[in-house]
Order: sequence, then C-alpha cells, then structure tokens
Amino acid sequence: MSCIFCKIANKEIPSSVVYETENVIAILDLSQANQGHTLVMPKSHYANILELPDNIASELALATVKVAKAIDEAFHPDGINILNNCKEAAGQTVMHVHVHIIPRMKDDGIEIELANNEGKYDLSSICNKIKHYL
Ligand code: AMP
Ligand code: ZN
Repeated sequence: MSCIFCKIANKEIPSSVVYETENVIAILDLSQANQGHTLVMPKSHYANILELPDNIASELALATVKVAKAIDEAFHPDGINILNNCKEAAGQTVMHVHVHIIPRMKDDGIEIELANNEGKYDLSSICNKIKHYL
C-alpha cells in the first residue's frame, strides 16, 4: 500500500504524533494552517468517511474531541474548525480518511464560507430523503 497516511500510521515515515489509540492516530499537519493544526485518522486504510465502520468512526470522533480540547488548552485559540474533506470534489487530496482540527484566530485570513440558500429548498422533502436511509 503506497498510501502516505498508512505509512505514517505504521511509523514507516516520520510525523509529529500528538495522540494515538489502538485504531487511531493524531499527527500535526505539515501545513499548519494555524499553530496546532492536527489531523486525526484511523490507522487502517479507509478512503473516506463513508467507508468507516461504526467502531472506528466512534474512536475517531472521540479522539478528535479529545485532541481538540488539548489544542484549546495549549493555544487558547479564538475558535476551532473541525472538518473532513470527503472525496476530491470536496477538497480531499490524501485519500485516507482524516479529520482536520484547525485552531482559529480572529482575522487569521482562513476562509471557510458557506452559501446562504435559505428559502430555496423544500426542507421537509430533503429531511425525508435523508431519513429514508437511516
Ligand atoms: P485534505 O485536503 O483534507 O486531503 O488534507 C490533506 C492534508 O494532509 C493537507 O493539509 C496536508 O498539509 C497534509 N499532509 C500531507 N502530507 C502530510 C504529511 N506527510 N504529514 C503531515 N501532513 C501531511
Ligand atoms: Zn492509507
């Protein structure tokens, strides 16, 4: 497997490990969008969040919250974004699922902007469509 995050999880290439459990590892993102920018990922290879079995999803979520709290204590950011890019169209560049924890400071220049389409869609039909698969 040539996946770079598999190699990191297997300690075949170095990284700055901030936390790990049996199935999950958290490392500093090389890009450091802000100081403390961390990636949390399963040690086993899953391409994206849609492939995760429940037990790994739970461990990933727990580790993400735990590390986010530690980053908050360590750097006292003004805010934190927790985000996952799922598939190329959503901005995923490394095809091994990972969650970004990005500490945010007021006016840090990072832009994550969502369109406001309030009133455009029929919310009850959207709601029913999703519920059908749950
Ligand atoms: P994404 O666009 O969500 O797939 O994010 C991939 C992230 O992985 C980027 O923020 C990169 O900076 C980061 N990254 C790529 N290679 C490494 C590496 N070897 N160690 C740490 N972070 C990495
Ligand atoms: Zn992988």
